Amino acid sequence: MKVLGLIGGGQLGMMITEAAQKMQDHISKVVVLDPTPNCPAAKVGAEQIVADFKDEKAILELAERCDIVTYEIESGNSEILKKAESKAMINPSPETLRIIQDKFLQKSFLLQNNLPVPEFVEINSLDDLKEKIKKFGYPTLLKARRDAYDGRGNYKIKSQDDLETAYNTFAGKPMMLEKFVDFKMEVSVIAARNTKGQIVTYPLVENIHENNILKITIAPARVSESVSKQAEKIAHDTMAVLHGAGVFGIEMFVTQDDKIIINEIAPRVHNSGHHTLQSSQTSQFEQHLRAILGLELGSTKLIHPTIMYNILGTDEFSGRYKIADFTAENLYLKMYGKEESKPQRKLGHFNLVDSNDTLGINGLLELLESIKKQIKFIKV
Ligand code: ATP
Ligand code: MG
Repeated sequence: MKVLGLIGGGQLGMMITEAAQKMQDHISKVVVLDPTPNCPAAKVGAEQIVADFKDEKAILELAERCDIVTYEIESGNSEILKKAESKAMINPSPETLRIIQDKFLQKSFLLQNNLPVPEFVEINSLDDLKEKIKKFGYPTLLKARRDAYDGRGNYKIKSQDDLETAYNTFAGKPMMLEKFVDFKMEVSVIAARNTKGQIVTYPLVENIHENNILKITIAPARVSESVSKQAEKIAHDTMAVLHGAGVFGIEMFVTQDDKIIINEIAPRVHNSGHHTLQSSQTSQFEQHLRAILGLELGSTKLIHPTIMYNILGTDEFSGRYKIADFTAENLYLKMYGKEESKPQRKLGHFNLVDSNDTLGINGLLELLESIKKQIKFIKV
């Protein structure tokens, strides 16, 4: 029996906690570290240490109280986690986290291992940017190397006139320049590697973003079999070179000529894997726990086509809210217990499952359009 430590107790931590509670033969309890009192993971029963994600004392206390520590965020301090390794097993390993959390190190690592990434280069000053962009042309993306999310670390440079504004947006932070990929689809693979080296991948899914935030995941992706095989192989090879155990979300682009390019890796369970809660034999959350516990990994088979829809806070208001009841056949709603809405905040999601295999993806998308009209926020 192991005590599980979790850094970050938002919706991902909450769903990891719920999966842990179903594995009573292996996990006796969950302790979460999160700065928000009564965070979503605590609401479903995890004990909570209220502290900042980078609070060294709190992280060491968590490791002291637990046998295995994992995390739902990639912005943790890998140096502190390395220290905590003497007190508990930490997975994915702090070294893997260190490489992944810096987009430049991550892409350099992938490139060294012959995995496909867009062309990229480090940027050290405005003059450096002005010089290096000559080779890339326009548009090109300037990216903050660290702590980016929801596209906030990206600046699309459309012409020479944007150079200074782009640079000033991230001034003082390490940056990189990356070739703009004219993709025809964004896709991802949820992959897992356990502590013994066993690797599995879930079928390729398609991701639709709005305002740089994931809105819809379609499982399986509407691509040819050769494209999905190519992507799943790249995901498998990526897991083989990354020395970490756990579930990873590997975001990729499908180019106009059906090539796969890796966009970025998340060293954690991923929003595009939420469909697995209903569509698959093993959810990504259970799989993550199996991986870090060193158990045999579960089946990744997609049982029924499924689409996942993210419920995001609307731009109309912030504050306490309620969602008017809505329902449909084979709709599985999961709200995250966040009391206050904010524009674009991830408040919940639902999965729509084609459980009789009669609707197909197009039928599911049509159904989604009618369900979307029923989603109403009520200010309370
Ligand atoms: P997330 O939104 O997943 O938290 P993030 O903020 O770290 O991640 P990225 O995933 O790097 O940002 O980029 C956000 C979005 O920007 C991508 O989903 C994609 O739509 C677009 N994008 C990123 N890199 C490129 C690229 N090289 N070419 C074209 N579009 C890109
Ligand atoms: Mg991304």
